[in-house]
Amino acid sequence: MSTNNKKVVTLAYGCQMSERDADTLTEISAQEGYTRTDDLENADLVIINTCCVRESAENKILGKIGELKKLKERNPHLKIAVSGCMVQQPGALERLQHRAPHVDIWAGTHNLPEFGRLIRLAEDNQKVAEVWKEPGPAFEATPLAEKGKLKANVNISYGCNNFCTYCIVPHVRGRERSRKPEDIIREIQELVASGCKEITLLGQNVNSYGHDLNISYDFANLLKQVDEIPGLLRVRFLTSHPKDLSDQLIETVAAGQHLCEHFHLPIQAGSNEILRHMNRKYTREYYLDRIAKIREIIPDASLTTDLIVGFPGETEVDFEQTLDIISRVHYSQAFTFIYSKRSGTPAAVMTDQIPLDVKKRRLQYLMNHQNAQSLEWRKAMVGKIYEVLVEGPSKSNPDRLTGRTRGNELVVFPGDPKLKGTLVKVRMREARSWTLLGEILSEH
Ligand code: SF4
Repeated sequence: MSTNNKKVVTLAYGCQMSERDADTLTEISAQEGYTRTDDLENADLVIINTCCVRESAENKILGKIGELKKLKERNPHLKIAVSGCMVQQPGALERLQHRAPHVDIWAGTHNLPEFGRLIRLAEDNQKVAEVWKEPGPAFEATPLAEKGKLKANVNISYGCNNFCTYCIVPHVRGRERSRKPEDIIREIQELVASGCKEITLLGQNVNSYGHDLNISYDFANLLKQVDEIPGLLRVRFLTSHPKDLSDQLIETVAAGQHLCEHFHLPIQAGSNEILRHMNRKYTREYYLDRIAKIREIIPDASLTTDLIVGFPGETEVDFEQTLDIISRVHYSQAFTFIYSKRSGTPAAVMTDQIPLDVKKRRLQYLMNHQNAQSLEWRKAMVGKIYEVLVEGPSKSNPDRLTGRTRGNELVVFPGDPKLKGTLVKVRMREARSWTLLGEILSEH
């Protein structure tokens, strides 16, 4: 391991999986002697971990890569690495290399374990590009998380088997591979020993965790085991595919001590016709049944979702069905997106693509509808008492603390910064657009 004082800036785009991969790349660069910084001007290595899930994300990333060219002109020693989903797309590497010849390292999603070697080659002034078509042996050999943080993401599986017709993920992250339970538990124990209090278990579909392990062990088993790790205060998980959400899993969350009562359950669209064309493998009736089950077993559970507007063929009636789902479910939050064509996916070549102006109008309408629902959800919390994990001083007001409820709502309240990392009881006093204001009643 090199020990000189080299600095790395890591920029992550896209989902939590991408952020998690960026953390892994940062850890690998630390093994090569790089210390993390946010100061681009003083960086020796810049890593951009990319996302290709939407065209808008790709354009933003291409703009960033272009900006780094000027930085490299001022600092010729700077090495630039671009990794992740954009690089992994079939046929993308050549196009990217042509567009950005100033980049030193190109690495696909399956090449993370090789990243240290790629850094050393780049330090030797070689331009390198490695994009394996298939994943190699699991990543257990690589450092698996950035230690010492209050909250950390832990991968439980990689890839996806579902092939929703709009989604590029199975094409760039491969088929689903579950990590062994003992490796996941060991990683979490190490994180807790380094001060971590909250873990988010990550998978494209956590509900199908373990199906490929050939042992009698599923996601509910894993949650139970993680719940028992001493010192861990909270456990979250992302993402649940509705088709695989079992009663047993809901009951496990209800019975858990540290398992947060929050389900991120993407519906994507409210019309059965659109769901069928999306290949989501459930109907709106089935989805609403799952919601009813959650509310029956955990009445106060927070529900969040992802929604796409303007999928090919979506009529005004289909769109109204999506609005209707929002009214019925009462999500605390929804992540809303305009459908974006991804080449290589079935939806990209479907006829009756929706004009952009229609998609934008629907998105605005959807967001207004959901924002009103989110505010209603938070208003209903006012006057009640919730358990909050203190995350430290608020960025916008350092005199206040911030933290999150078990339902993942952001709360701002006065308090001693020494409370960071502890659980406190907070009474909610006021609901704002995106946060709640509260006051501490007691420390746990
Ligand atoms: S479940 Fe569907 S949307 Fe989610 S990653 Fe897999 S293919 Fe993509």
